[in-house]
Amino acid sequence: MSVQLGMPQPRQEAAPTLPAVPPSRPADAPAGLTDRYGRRATDMRLSLTDKCNLRCTYCMPAEGLEWLAKQAVMSAEEIMRIVRVGVEQLGVRELRLTGGEPLVRHDLVDIIAALRRNHPDLPISMTTNGVGLAKKAAALKAAGLTRINVSLDSLHEETFTKLTRRPFLDQVLAGVDAAWAAGLGPVKLNAVLMRGINDAESPQLLAWALERGYELRFIEQMPLDADHGWTRRNMITAAEIRELLSRDFVLSPDRRARDGAPAERFEVRRRPAGSAEPDGPVLGTVGIIASVTEPFCSDCRRTRITAEGKIMSCLFSREEFDLLGLLRSGAGDDELARRWQDAMWIKPKAHGMDHVGLDAPDFVQPDRSMSAIGG
Ligand code: SAM
Ligand code: SF4
Repeated sequence: MSVQLGMPQPRQEAAPTLPAVPPSRPADAPAGLTDRYGRRATDMRLSLTDKCNLRCTYCMPAEGLEWLAKQAVMSAEEIMRIVRVGVEQLGVRELRLTGGEPLVRHDLVDIIAALRRNHPDLPISMTTNGVGLAKKAAALKAAGLTRINVSLDSLHEETFTKLTRRPFLDQVLAGVDAAWAAGLGPVKLNAVLMRGINDAESPQLLAWALERGYELRFIEQMPLDADHGWTRRNMITAAEIRELLSRDFVLSPDRRARDGAPAERFEVRRRPAGSAEPDGPVLGTVGIIASVTEPFCSDCRRTRITAEGKIMSCLFSREEFDLLGLLRSGAGDDELARRWQDAMWIKPKAHGMDHVGLDAPDFVQPDRSMSAIGG
């Protein structure tokens, strides 16, 4: 294996033996889902399922993963209870439904309708791969979904199929348009760039999104693939993304407050061929989520619940604590809230992927893939 200075590879090692229950946080710790470093989690990412109908190379292996048994996954009622504790007792202010693929859950519309009844003012968004979205967008909106993020890595059938290992590009494009037409905007699009596969297409993807009024966000590929095939050499960095886009566009920092958002936003103007200066008005914005090279851990406001009801304080956490088991054992809301707070209190300061230098502690790749955590 070749190692580049400043770019250590993730280590892969057996998960440490962890306590089933987090240690109690101090009695005088601040209210809500706070941690030792003064951060407060108000943004809840809840995974509805570990199953998916695509096999994106940066996430899942070709053969899929061993799915959780049905009874291991949170039921609609259990989801309602956990969200209620988060919102009413712990200061959760926004909810993102994710997976796996949330659209494969047959009771998705009912779950959203029930969440909306319980929390009339809570922003509820969803991240989806868009397969089957065209048929469901209007029902999702009517049920009370606020907004949608659709993952779209390529506009070319062949490239899309290579990346996702499924020939569903037309369905995804129809889904994006249906979401917009149903009023689920602003529609955000997530794209992961893979070297030599879709990186050269990035300006075209941006032009397409701008023409339609969608907000495209490029996400640096993170070492969360089940195949453990991620390499630093192959990942396209945020700096490279800016460079790729600057061929056709001029990007200027968006002055609106970032407000804990993972994406750094830029205003986009057209760059005429051969010119360094922009021409014409601002066409829209583009976001770049630089989780690996420019991490935003110190501003992180996220708390995650996996499909089987485990609390994860960070995407890269190797510690997870069981909330669903506690709920099923008959625990009251106060006990659930305490477990959640204890688990968040020990949230790591940072994920360590950006450590520079060969003697710095290496980043250890988590065992779970993105689909199994809930991205
Ligand atoms: N299936 C849905 C989808 O693809 O949008 C929701 C779950 S998916 C895990 C959520 C987001 O994580 C997607 O936008 C996907 O592109 C992104 N993602 C998955 N694996 C990733 C990785 N290794 N690095 C960066 N982003 C990743
Ligand atoms: Fe499925 Fe989303 Fe993972 Fe792709 S990124 S395999 S769509 S969970």
